[in-house]
Amino acid sequence: MELTSDFKELVRSRTEIVSLIGESTTLIPERGGAEYKCLCPFHPDTNPSMRIYPDRQSFRCWVCDTGGDVFTWIMKREALSFPETMRFLAERAHLEMPEQSKHQSDQFAKKDELHAVLKWAEMQFHECFLKSSEAKDARDYIAGRGYSQQTVEEFRLGYHPEDWDWIQRKAKPQFSIDVLQQSQLIRPQDDRPGYSDYFVDRVLFPIHDERRRTVAFGGRLIPGHKERGGKYFNSKESPVFHKSRVLYGLPNARDGIRDTNTVLVVEGYADCVACHQFGVRNVVATLGTSLTELHCNRLKAFAQKVVMVYDGDDAGQNAAAKAVGMLIGQSIDLRVLTLPEGADPDDYLKSNGTEAFQALVDKAPEAWEFRFNYEVKKHGLDSINSRETVVTEMLQLLAGASDLQGTAREDIILTRLAPRLQSSEGAIRNQLKRIRSGNRPQQFQTKPAQEEQPALVQEERIEVHRQPLSKNDRMECELLEILLTEPERAEQTRQEIGVDDFLNPHLRELLQIVYDVVELGEVPSFERVTLEMERNELKGLTVWLADQAREKGIEHKLRENSDGGTSILLRQVLDVLKWRREVLSHNADFQKQAMSGEGNDALTMLQKAAAFHRKRVMNQR
Ligand SMILES: [Zn+2]
Repeated sequence: MELTSDFKELVRSRTEIVSLIGESTTLIPERGGAEYKCLCPFHPDTNPSMRIYPDRQSFRCWVCDTGGDVFTWIMKREALSFPETMRFLAERAHLEMPEQSKHQSDQFAKKDELHAVLKWAEMQFHECFLKSSEAKDARDYIAGRGYSQQTVEEFRLGYHPEDWDWIQRKAKPQFSIDVLQQSQLIRPQDDRPGYSDYFVDRVLFPIHDERRRTVAFGGRLIPGHKERGGKYFNSKESPVFHKSRVLYGLPNARDGIRDTNTVLVVEGYADCVACHQFGVRNVVATLGTSLTELHCNRLKAFAQKVVMVYDGDDAGQNAAAKAVGMLIGQSIDLRVLTLPEGADPDDYLKSNGTEAFQALVDKAPEAWEFRFNYEVKKHGLDSINSRETVVTEMLQLLAGASDLQGTAREDIILTRLAPRLQSSEGAIRNQLKRIRSGNRPQQFQTKPAQEEQPALVQEERIEVHRQPLSKNDRMECELLEILLTEPERAEQTRQEIGVDDFLNPHLRELLQIVYDVVELGEVPSFERVTLEMERNELKGLTVWLADQAREKGIEHKLRENSDGGTSILLRQVLDVLKWRREVLSHNADFQKQAMSGEGNDALTMLQKAAAFHRKRVMNQR
């Protein structure tokens, strides 16, 4: 664990949470300004459920449980990685990134260089497309698709000639081979030394991030030209290009999205450009992946309604059903538009026009309804068996979305679903409850990992504080609540309870951080401990524990019941944990002996068991 956090501390001390959150949200003072509340931006909130605590410089939503510090706020709100968040807040505080984070500033410098080379390449390709005689077929093809000059310029379409080191020659001496390779403009030759250009004889669609920086390219084969590697291919992922985050066309679509409060998501840049060409301006595209949670989080900042557009063929419908499964829990009005079989958006707009397309958008069913229709089409609804299958599929879908549980959104879906399944709402609810409890063999539910999520953003979900605590978890939480209230006691605690005495992996991780800070000779205060955390889920858990401690009045209790040095409350919690350690180790010994089958030791075992029993009775007094 990285403990050199001076700069992080500096950034945090220069960032006041109330003014930071106040920049994007209206705050209402509470308790004479000791706390603030506001509408939570992380779930559809009508009652201000977000609390901001200036004293601890933290926030937490009482409904969706999102919580943390200033870093968490920016990471979640702006969908940035941790290093990006540091940079964002450092700039805001007018702090220069220091020498210590040389590695990080190196990385930023590297990214800046990649953005620069990609921007430069975009200009080369675009110039070539507009002017070069070699690009004639490319121009004819694009004109044949009906793209206007304005579209070509707006989307900066380009062409790379049929020449395997064209871009390498042009790059000299401005950009190194290393930079060209890292930006995925060239690749090593398969069979001999040296490199070849990545996109050869293709129409190129530059891909921009939402800040309009060039991050990658998509290449379209020109019909009739030699086929190498498929009709479409995109740059490989690079430090500046992550498929699961980037949405093609977002900078171009921003105004259209704002005006309609709706965003359409198509599969692929060619369809996206076609829609814009036809005047449908609120369209973006995913790039070789279906819509991810990261995409959705991004889109939520711009629009309330997201319409995924899919082809009507089996492949398209199956992909849509799968995407719905992953995104049903998102707090956004998600819809699925199915085009008539065989048509892509371009074909459809060409033959039916913008108005007919818009009509399809307007009547696109909600995601859950689409999935219901899909299941009915697949299994039927006539027999008892088929109905059962559809019910199970639908409830599995809802049960899989842990974000959905207990929300108003879930209520609405269940109310509308019940009559279609010819069932009562109560029966459906009970069945859902059963499936949920069956789905949760362990205390902690971890979301299935999705492909290609950058590690910093895709976090394991910590469920410990989102459900009734087990007895074991409660013991561990109590100790942590005490330590977060009076961190000076951690030194003493560490002598008696080790990290291995904690069973819950998340609580253990938190205790480990507390002890690490003690190890450094510092006081593991709430601020100091959360400073060591980069995972927002863990911060959320820590804020929750600090809240619990305050609600229970732990500070008061610690002071009240103090017999000299040690507080009685702390003594009790420590003793309970130590007793548990003894029980567990006793059970393990007993099991080991029983397994080894050493029958002649039966007497020793009995004696031990009796001694243990006596001790237990003592402890219970
Ligand atoms: Zn919330």
